[in-house]
Amino acid sequence: MAIPACSRIRSTSHAADSPTAFIENDAVLGDLDAHFAGNFLNEDTILKLARDKGYSTAAVGKHGPTLLFDHTERIGLQTIIVDDITGTAQGIPLSAEMGERLKAAGLAMATPPRGANGIAGNVTTPGTKSANVVQQDYFAAVTTRVVLPMFKERSKPFLLVFWSRDPDGTQHNQGDSLNVLVPGINGPTSLAAMRNEDDNLARIRSALSELGLLDSTNIIVTSDHGFSTISKQSQTSSTVATKFSDTLPGHLPFGFVARSRSPIRRCSRGRACTARSAGPTPGISWQCRGQTSNRNSSIPRRPATPIWAARLRI
Ligand SMILES: [Zn+2]
Repeated sequence: MAIPACSRIRSTSHAADSPTAFIENDAVLGDLDAHFAGNFLNEDTILKLARDKGYSTAAVGKHGPTLLFDHTERIGLQTIIVDDITGTAQGIPLSAEMGERLKAAGLAMATPPRGANGIAGNVTTPGTKSANVVQQDYFAAVTTRVVLPMFKERSKPFLLVFWSRDPDGTQHNQGDSLNVLVPGINGPTSLAAMRNEDDNLARIRSALSELGLLDSTNIIVTSDHGFSTISKQSQTSSTVATKFSDTLPGHLPFGFVARSRSPIRRCSRGRACTARSAGPTPGISWQCRGQTSNRNSSIPRRPATPIWAARLRI
């Protein structure tokens, strides 16, 4: 059983509002597969390999990466997929057996939304102060009260992925440190997210123990990335002179990437020259290399690498 503990940038709700195609989305995964002969990865996923060998398989958790573990099986009759959009018209359908078992367990047929946990905030409004407790309580309940008991009854080996959005989603959105560095991603909201994930893992371990499966089940905990707290202020980058609607004065814009540059040009004397000062402005000074004197050649032209700050995210 694998439990990737983390995910990636921004919330799914944000992605849904973005004009940029975002792979953490079941529909986008389907589009990608359709463009690449049915399997855009050109590899078999671990859940597909397992079910082909007769394992029971399930993936539960965050919209997108959950389906990615068996994205070529979209009818819900082989691998069980339970994610954010389960129970909607866009979700991977549940089998009749899953529907009956959810009903018998008193669990809803649809995943609850993230609610306040999905609030990303902006430069003037803090993000969430809530861990993803409600939604993940549902995922943990489905896993421990429906999926694992079903797998136990089948008396077959199984492979189950529980993709916990916490602490990742909460730490991306946390509202503990609006435009300040402390406490950063070590604030109370992030700590609550870690507790939430830990509680989910404890529930899964307890269920395995009660089912008599713990001693014969391998649990693998993994993660996709960590966090570091950074300052978005700069007194030297010329990018701060550019006004962005979602950026405070003196701050670097969301998604800013600095690019090291030392463009080489030939000056009027045919010598290799480098930019002496930084700035994407015409009339930049260029300094001849290899000169023995201090004479400079001033060549009015743009630097060789005009893109030196890019907004990679919207
Ligand atoms: Zn992340």
